[in-house]
Amino acid sequence: MPDRKLDIDTYNRKRDFSKTKEPKGRRLKGKGDSFVVQKHAASRLHWDFRLELDGVLKSWAVPKGPSLDPGENRLAMRTEDHPLDYGTFEGTIPKGEYGGGTVMLWDRGRWIPDPRKDPSKTIEEGHLHFILEGDRMKGEWVMFRLKPRPGEKAEPWMLKKVTDDFADEADGDALVDNCVTSVTTGRTMAEIASGEDVWRSNRGGQKGGRAKRKSGKAPPPFVEPQLATLVDDVPPGDSWIH
Ligand code: MN
Repeated sequence: MPDRKLDIDTYNRKRDFSKTKEPKGRRLKGKGDSFVVQKHAASRLHWDFRLELDGVLKSWAVPKGPSLDPGENRLAMRTEDHPLDYGTFEGTIPKGEYGGGTVMLWDRGRWIPDPRKDPSKTIEEGHLHFILEGDRMKGEWVMFRLKPRPGEKAEPWMLKKVTDDFADEADGDALVDNCVTSVTTGRTMAEIASGEDVWRSNRGGQKGGRAKRKSGKAPPPFVEPQLATLVDDVPPGDSWIH
């Protein structure tokens, strides 16, 4: 077992909650079975894959996103446990903050671990086997931990589709290429970046900025206005009058 801590304390330590609208981390009791995938345009684009287990969201960052092709092993770097509330977050983490960038709710649903095994145990041993009932990720999947390379601090895993009715050997990157809107708000990344943050606690009561759009239409993406700039010399060429 790598000794790297990937728990909720790590999650809280990495964030300045006076600056980001992400929820503060806490571990909740209960045996939920939700899963969520958040497309995250941070310094590098990735898909955050999260499984609810033991009161938190066990989390991995998948740089290429999932594929329906059972021949594709998708690298999934384990990240710190996230609070359950995080599973409804869609919006923008301020620039300069940890994970700064736009977050889209890309998929969500229920996960069903292999009933013959205890996922709380097998995750520590480095493997998980489950069925997903999402809008986009469906059917049987496996995850397994790789041996970290010498000096590598992170925990590399693989995410892989198992052959079943939902598998597609020709999928390649089609799943991530074709699914480019939020499963909850229908917004594109650009619309989320220019719009309001949306998140609500999924455990009793409403919190945070729950944005409601009045019309069914998303606002247009923000366009940076072109402003005049003072310069010392006139521009070259004949197309100027001064
Ligand atoms: Mn992320």
